Amino acid sequence: MQGQRVLLRVDFNVPLSDGKIVDDSRIRAAVPTIKALLDGGASVVIMSHLGRPDGRVVDGLRLRPAAERLTQLIRVNVPTTGDALGVGTDDAVRRLRPGELLLLENVRFHAGEERNDPAFAERLASYGDVFVNDAFGAAHRAHASTVGVAAYLPSYVGLLMEQEVEALSNLLEKPARPFAAIVGGGKVSGKVAVLEALIKKVDLLILGGGVANTFLVASGRSVGKSLYESKMVDDARRILKLAQDRGVRVLLPVDGVVAKEVTRGTEFKVVSTDKLPASWHMVDLGPASITAIREALAPIKTILWNGPLGVFEIPSFAVATRELAKVAAEKADAGATVVVGGGDSIAALRQLGIAEKMTHLSTGGGASLEFLEGRDLPGLAVVPTAGSPYETLPIVYVAPVKPGGKAAPRRAAAKPKPIIKPSALDDEDDDESDPLA
Ligand code: ADP
Ligand code: MG
Repeated sequence: MQGQRVLLRVDFNVPLSDGKIVDDSRIRAAVPTIKALLDGGASVVIMSHLGRPDGRVVDGLRLRPAAERLTQLIRVNVPTTGDALGVGTDDAVRRLRPGELLLLENVRFHAGEERNDPAFAERLASYGDVFVNDAFGAAHRAHASTVGVAAYLPSYVGLLMEQEVEALSNLLEKPARPFAAIVGGGKVSGKVAVLEALIKKVDLLILGGGVANTFLVASGRSVGKSLYESKMVDDARRILKLAQDRGVRVLLPVDGVVAKEVTRGTEFKVVSTDKLPASWHMVDLGPASITAIREALAPIKTILWNGPLGVFEIPSFAVATRELAKVAAEKADAGATVVVGGGDSIAALRQLGIAEKMTHLSTGGGASLEFLEGRDLPGLAVVPTAGSPYETLPIVYVAPVKPGGKAAPRRAAAKPKPIIKPSALDDEDDDESDPLA
């Protein structure tokens, strides 16, 4: 690393409120790689996106708050550039000395980023001698700073990427059994593929949140005014059938908390899920369901949890999520592997102050789901990781060719790389409202 200029992609896409960082998990998670590079005598040019500025400069989505947070964490001043490209940035990069770093402004201020424009990628690549991708949370995107630059530079993964891949691969390949998945959150759409993949891996599937409501409808109940997706009922039915065929136990809520409105201070009560009233909303699991979950988890040795069990943002409806968090922490203490993914689920654990008890907190929302579905993540696949199946594949990066544009030149590669199809660019199927998507 000594004397090398490292172009490092991190995921500083953190939730902000009034310009303040609400959860700095992703910045903390990038620190080990940044420190290792600086200690090794590299100079580090960091790239990240933040939010969805859609190719325009949005002042509220500048990376300065992230740079300030990183400065506090590593106790080294982290300057930011005013633009990811430009004369000033070229100059700042040129002046970097070994052991120094800088953060490029939000790469998504340029339309070329999400389009994976070869010219944009080439200019970014000119800032480094090597590329290190440590942005697990953005690894499901084939963008210029995650995939495009790898066509121009020798490429590696960072320590966070390695840790995420190891934790999630272990779940899929060699989980200690019995293995349970707990899936909650608002919507089934976006989780169908992962549910289908998980049914083939787990011994027990526990459903909660709005996701459970859709499954309750699929199993013949009516859910009143509760959030559920009518378009997903057939998928839910198919997943239930798949579970039955494979002998996977599915735990649906037997009781729930129903509320007049989904607001603070509203009237609420506990009812059986067989008798959900027509004009109420189910917003949390009830005590009998929580007991059933606790009992079902007793023999479990591996837990994967994604999505809160209720509308946890409202304290009265956070009971099941909180109870599950406590059970999960107890299980982890007792030696079980507990992996939690999803921005909201991790936020719920942080509220309770027990996040660090878990075996692994995944920093990727969409990326972890796609990884668990068994899909290739473009940001990972461009890097020939030692020991990975990719190592022996031929390296071909197929740059998307726009009409009239020219494709990225292909480097004569020393190491094999897999083929990334441009179709990966169309992959924008997750929740637009999720700031961590
Ligand atoms: P994660 O970010 O952990 O992946 P999701 O984004 O899938 O989780 O889901 C979180 C959201 O689901 C929360 O905003 C929560 O309020 C909502 N939610 C959970 N249960 C319900 C429910 N019963 N009705 C409506 N929304 C719910
Ligand atoms: Mg979410």
